[in-house]
Amino acid sequence: MSARVVLVVEDNEQNMELATYLLEEAGFEVQQATSPDEARRALARQRPDLVLMDMSLGGVDGLSIVAELRRKPELAPLPILALTAHAMRGDRERFLQGGCDGYIPKPIDVKTFVREIEAALARGHGDS
Ligand code: MN
Repeated sequence: MSARVVLVVEDNEQNMELATYLLEEAGFEVQQATSPDEARRALARQRPDLVLMDMSLGGVDGLSIVAELRRKPELAPLPILALTAHAMRGDRERFLQGGCDGYIPKPIDVKTFVREIEAALARGHGDS
């Protein structure tokens, strides 16, 4: 079985390094994108099994990128998790209504991170 692929879209170097390390340790293949354009190019090359999307990409709202991806029929069923420091009350609903399947709060919790990715992969998109 080939490794499952996670596209990590994140402009913070430390978060990218940590997410990549944890995922690769767990046997995932990681694609990295540090901007919306890099994310678009990565998705044009290869369809990942899941996207982890930073909600603040150099001033761009991650939800606007999620909305753009969801408009593409081939990407509509892709599980997308928001990665965000803004995990306040009400944000969860905003992310879910914006097309995400859940979110992972920052700072990344090394004890639960991979488990949350696995759970999101098991749920798939749109089963909430
Ligand atoms: Mn960011």
